[in-house]
Amino acid sequence: MLDYNNIILQTISPSWLPDNIRAAVLRLDLLHPEVSGNKWFKLRYNLEAAFANGKKHILTFGGAYSNHIAATAAACQLAGIACTGVIRGERPSVLSHTLREASAKGMELLFISREAYRIKNETDWSTLYPDAYVVPEGGNNALGAKGCEEILSLVNDPSFTHIVCAVGTGTTLAGLINSADHQQEIRGYVVLKGAAYLEQEIQSLLAPAPLPHWQLVHQHHGGGYAKVTPALSGFMRQFYDETGIPLDIVYTGKLIMGFRQDVSEGLYPPGSKVLLIHTGGLQGNDDGR
Ligand SMILES: *Cc1c(COP(=O)(O)O)cnc(C)c1O
Repeated sequence: MLDYNNIILQTISPSWLPDNIRAAVLRLDLLHPEVSGNKWFKLRYNLEAAFANGKKHILTFGGAYSNHIAATAAACQLAGIACTGVIRGERPSVLSHTLREASAKGMELLFISREAYRIKNETDWSTLYPDAYVVPEGGNNALGAKGCEEILSLVNDPSFTHIVCAVGTGTTLAGLINSADHQQEIRGYVVLKGAAYLEQEIQSLLAPAPLPHWQLVHQHHGGGYAKVTPALSGFMRQFYDETGIPLDIVYTGKLIMGFRQDVSEGLYPPGSKVLLIHTGGLQGNDDGR
């Protein structure tokens, strides 16, 4: 349905990268303007399961700026299946760009209170939507992780010593851990503040041992989810000037800025060859946050 040939592996040499460390970016952001990056991989087996179970409708969850909502709306339009986005909070007088686009692609938007949203996973949605296949928020389930196991087959290069990716729910990271070579090291840069629960959630999506060594890096959330500082904006601009690669403020900007910091602190030994996963998310920049 989507053309993986759009995805490229781009070697980068920004001014801050020492000569003895090599780095390349896997440009999943080039897959599709809205079904960008990792969200497609998390959705694909969920869509298949919906079709296999005879479901005519996808129901999923997210906030007003959710890349997952944007990707689900676009993917369901491509797949020709109806969808509902259950959105956290009362309907605002002016919809975000993300929600306007989702609605334009045919997604029904159902706004629920923050209280109701908190118990969404315990809610029986089948009474309201008997035909719906429910995809959890962020595509965070075993089928989501399974889809992400395909990401590294686009690279197929075991000479990378480190594989580095931004972490929201950790579903993507779980897929990378499950599919990497055992001598590779996987590092997940967490964009949420105080997300100590993530280790265990990721663990629950992992294949049986042996697995490659992996760790979560909690130091680079930059003040918390979707928080922007002038330093981050400046870094993203400079990175774009030096590499031509656009980043987003929520995930990939923090990933690469955190990576730069860790490189400067010597956390990547000389001789490292680092694969940075660009998970997309550029549609969120249109919300101008
Ligand atoms: C959703 C998202 C992530 C986080 O993926 P998880 O599987 O939830 O950890 C990372 N990057 C971008 C651009 C995203 O939109």
